[in-house]
Amino acid sequence: MQKGQISVQTENIFPIIKKFLYSDHEIFLRELVSNAVDATTKLKALASRGEVKGEIGDLTIDILLDKKKKTLTIRDKGIGMTSEEVLKYLNQVAFSSASEFLEKYQDEKIIGHFGLGFYSAFMVADKVEVHTRSWKEDAGTRWICDGNPEYEIGSDDKAERGTDIILHIGKDNKEFLEEARIEALLQKYCRFLPVTIRYGKKKETEWVGEGEDRKSVEKEVDNIINDSAPLWKEQPTDLKDEDYVAFYKKLHPFNPDPLFWIHLNIDYPFNLTGILYFPRLKNAIDNQKNKIHLYSNQVYVTDEVREIVPEFLTLLHGVIDSPDIPLNVSRSYLQSDANVRKINGYITKKVAEKLGKLFKKDREAYTAKWSDIGVFVKYGMLSEEKFYDAGQKFALLKNLDGDHFTIDEYREKVKDQQTDKDKRIVMLYTTQPKEHFAYIEGAKAKGYDVLECDQLIDNHFIQHLEQKMPELSFKRVDADTVDQLIQKDEQQESVLSEAEQDKVKEVFTAILGENSTATIQMKALSPEDQPVWITKPEFMRRMMEMQSMQGMGGMDFPDTWQLVVNTNHPLIAKKLAGIESGEESREFATYLYDLARLNQHMLKGEDLSRFVKKSLEMVG
Ligand code: ADP
Repeated sequence: MQKGQISVQTENIFPIIKKFLYSDHEIFLRELVSNAVDATTKLKALASRGEVKGEIGDLTIDILLDKKKKTLTIRDKGIGMTSEEVLKYLNQVAFSSASEFLEKYQDEKIIGHFGLGFYSAFMVADKVEVHTRSWKEDAGTRWICDGNPEYEIGSDDKAERGTDIILHIGKDNKEFLEEARIEALLQKYCRFLPVTIRYGKKKETEWVGEGEDRKSVEKEVDNIINDSAPLWKEQPTDLKDEDYVAFYKKLHPFNPDPLFWIHLNIDYPFNLTGILYFPRLKNAIDNQKNKIHLYSNQVYVTDEVREIVPEFLTLLHGVIDSPDIPLNVSRSYLQSDANVRKINGYITKKVAEKLGKLFKKDREAYTAKWSDIGVFVKYGMLSEEKFYDAGQKFALLKNLDGDHFTIDEYREKVKDQQTDKDKRIVMLYTTQPKEHFAYIEGAKAKGYDVLECDQLIDNHFIQHLEQKMPELSFKRVDADTVDQLIQKDEQQESVLSEAEQDKVKEVFTAILGENSTATIQMKALSPEDQPVWITKPEFMRRMMEMQSMQGMGGMDFPDTWQLVVNTNHPLIAKKLAGIESGEESREFATYLYDLARLNQHMLKGEDLSRFVKKSLEMVG
């Protein structure tokens, strides 16, 4: 054996490697198996060009765990290395990149998703042996390094072509001698690698025989970790819906079937394949995230894809595979990488195209899925400008009759009835059809249509639409009196004089009491409109909703509402204004006020009991 010293400035780089990579020790396996896959793929390429003599034989990669010897071996039958190559690749190249890497990232606290290639072996091993035989040679080479910059190199009697990397697992890393731990790691990182990976044997039960003789027998079979030809690598035209659903079930065994999917396949200006699935979402946004897995040439990298796909798309599930997304870089790099940004834009575009196509091709099926994809589309339109533009064609509004419209269609539908005096189209909506019943009836009686906006995100969504289309305004049905919901002409004249109005107002002011946060409005509405009505002005209400959603607490923002008194209604103009006795007018006004509260579901407890009693007296 010959001895030598690895040439680096740092006296002993291994303690640094260990320290810096502490949080992510397990990636050593990904790195080493990837190298084995690369070596195998290269051999296949040489063979296909006729450069390798004889049979190439079985190319399965073996992962071998020997608990007694405390070793983990990664064995491939790839191109192998000559002794010159070992010196060149394992000493110089790998080491210089390792030290460069450390120099660069010394100060950065983010130990994100990177690898040190071959040298990551030293995160878990006290000693690493490489036994290798190049496809070009008959003799093998052995390289041994025990974590000092010193190594030994010599000849090896390796009988087969390829490379064994033997890791002598250190005592701080005993977990990597556990069968289950290695199995789990292989499942995580190697599940879709393009070369068969075998991890020992496993037992399988098989049923044999017929009728009474039928019995189960246990068989030992190879434990193959990976699906070397995953669905996303295949041609979309060769695949059926069942194939996509079955693949989804492999990724997410406990989820309901996906709604639909997008098969991504592009090779210019960057290389990217993958399948994105639309899960059933409803309102449950949060626990659905981080379900897209990122691969680089079928090697699992991460499920933190925030930098690569736009935030709103992280609601999707599935796989993205791109060799153009570097394996070994930090997050901050990803964020500034131009390629990554292009990928981001491309995926957004594809998703929008798919939704647009589905909508056009089969509107009925698309509409049936709207309650699931609605959240997603709205979220996308809120957060990505480009998606907003595309989304206008397939975002739907649903009215209380259960009909769905695109924004343009709905605008056309309501514009004749619902344009106000300032030429704005007022779209009416309810968040709670039951609670707002009286208001909805009022609006319908006027010939208006009412939308149902009951999802959490709708608040933001309609606000956004208003910003984008200033000619539109959204108003909740209880935002105003029916007459004023859509202001068509100037206010009517009141039949009461100022003095009479003041007197009526005083009665209501006394009823509300000093501490009330409500305001009283005297309005000259149509005599057919309600006499007293409680409204929650749109602007104030939205402000409060926003604030309470941002966690600023409801306490500081009392429910603001208005008591609207219709000075033209006969019960006000004639009856109440005509009552002389203070006691009597208060009693009558209270009754009208209670009716208004009843319609807003605000009459409760003691007040409600009193109201019922009074009503019984009246009918009795
Ligand atoms: P990288 O894979 O990023 O090039 P590594 O440090 O992992 O860096 O490996 C350095 C080089 O060593 C590889 O590029 C390859 O040429 C060689 N190498 C590593 N593992 C193997 C292997 N199992 N078979 C053949 N060559 C290998």
